[in-house]
Amino acid sequence: MTEYKGNPVSEGIAVGKVYLYQPYVPEAVEGEIPEAEVPQVIARYEAMLEGAKKELEAIRRRLEEAGDGDKAKIFTAHQDILFDVAMDEEIRDKISYDLLTPEWAVHRVYEKFMKMLGKAKDPLIRERVADLRDVKNRLLRVAAGVPEKNLAALAEPVVVVAHDLLPSDTATLDRKNVLAIVTEVGGATSHSAIIARSYEIPALLGVPGVTEKLSHGQEAAVDALEGVLIADPSPEQKAEFSARREAFLARRAQEKKFLAVEPRMADGTVVPVHLNVGSASDQELAAEKYTDGVGLFRTEFVYMGREQLPTEEEQYEIYKKVLAAFGDRPVTLRTLDIGGDKKLPCMELPVEENPFLGNRALRLCFSMPEVFLTQLRAALRASVHGNLWIMFPMVGSLDDIRRAKEYLEKAKAQLEERGIPYSPDVKVGIMVEIPSIALVADLAAKEVDFASIGTNDLTQYSIAVDRMNPALGEYYQNYHPALFRLIGYVVSSFAKEGKPVSVCGEMGGDPLAAAVLVGLGMSKLSMGAASVARIKKLLSGLTMEKAKELAARACALPTSSQVEEYLKTELSPLL
Ligand code: PEP
Ligand code: MG
Repeated sequence: MTEYKGNPVSEGIAVGKVYLYQPYVPEAVEGEIPEAEVPQVIARYEAMLEGAKKELEAIRRRLEEAGDGDKAKIFTAHQDILFDVAMDEEIRDKISYDLLTPEWAVHRVYEKFMKMLGKAKDPLIRERVADLRDVKNRLLRVAAGVPEKNLAALAEPVVVVAHDLLPSDTATLDRKNVLAIVTEVGGATSHSAIIARSYEIPALLGVPGVTEKLSHGQEAAVDALEGVLIADPSPEQKAEFSARREAFLARRAQEKKFLAVEPRMADGTVVPVHLNVGSASDQELAAEKYTDGVGLFRTEFVYMGREQLPTEEEQYEIYKKVLAAFGDRPVTLRTLDIGGDKKLPCMELPVEENPFLGNRALRLCFSMPEVFLTQLRAALRASVHGNLWIMFPMVGSLDDIRRAKEYLEKAKAQLEERGIPYSPDVKVGIMVEIPSIALVADLAAKEVDFASIGTNDLTQYSIAVDRMNPALGEYYQNYHPALFRLIGYVVSSFAKEGKPVSVCGEMGGDPLAAAVLVGLGMSKLSMGAASVARIKKLLSGLTMEKAKELAARACALPTSSQVEEYLKTELSPLL
């Protein structure tokens, strides 16, 4: 029995077998074969194809059985790549005539085709590069005899242990079979953490070296309340974990009683509670009946886990579904926010030294006008089915606002040319997550209809601390008075223009911070479904007068830990 400590970012308790997720990165080594061995080597190449095909079929079948046809299609397309006539012929020629090993031949031919596709003008063709790389890696892994690891289709319930999970890994996660997530890196506001919370999967991040310490199939008990993992738990410990799990689930069930109540404070003030979503799946929209709108639709997740960029039509259908589900209630659709820790398997992005300070989100959209315009057209088309609010992420200046609005106008003009209707009432807003825009909020408020504060990035950029790095956890200070002062300035600047401000970062779903945000004058709070009940419970016991007192004190106290301690003491009866 060994104990490890980590950062509990999504509450829960689980006991199960470890599934060590280490994506295999094959390295093809240059090699030649004797001419006499060509027939055997061709047979070996064919065995590689056969092995890869079997794996792809098994994944596709499992996804189809789980009713996930969209993901299944990705793997059908990979089978087509595997048997692509042009590549297959070239590989066979390289083995037969140039006497290359099958691994080297596969590597050379796939690299050549990837290079060719990477140069294509059409982004849809360029996206195929990621699929080719995926299939190439699969072939080389099969050749090396390394078993398949994939989180999209797991055979049994497991505790997933990984160095890190990319948002695309979590987005395609086979959630019914994931008991818990444990990683070596990733902070509380990393996207893996956000998704784990929204799926209500217990998660423990920032456990140093855990992938080396645990082995595949070993038993582990995870306590994502206290932040502890026990390897090889004794029968007594397992029983204790089960009992605590029951108690945790009972508490959660108790809290859920607040799910359906109106978000009314003790003095009668209503603070609308909005939902953060990443897709239009029924599961994500299940909390629709308990919320007053969507405060953040992270549309980049629509682009993840797919072999190609979603078309205008595909996006339109997805946005329409969410808008129609919420009827008159606002649906805030954030335009593509890719980059940073969010990569797209269907798009090759250049490697950068500082991705969080790099060509991400709106900047990236400006550099890919077609991708941006396609999304804006799809959103505008969907606007006739509900109450659409379009929001631009990572806005740093008024130039960004003006440029983004020009694109929106262009998208409208394109629709008008095609005679396609859109709602004239679409609201346009920005995320405030870069300090430079927060500090000119008075000016920004004149140019947009609303703002929403992205506290995850605002914290990262204000304190200059990487939201992904668990080693810096003590510096990622959620309750730093600087943040509350900055947020207070944004709220009052927008209030002067009579325009609403909400918060859609993780602070909105954290009861301690939410109480302060309400006191600062936030028009609404937006959060993942898992926080809705807890926040409504908090609101029901809090008066606006008290919230204002908390806000004033949070801005005045000198340190984050003092603010946290103060809020815990003041709010403990309401938690
Ligand atoms: C934020 O930065 O707070 C936010 C809501 O956006 P994301 O977490 O998707 O970066
Ligand atoms: Mg952000």
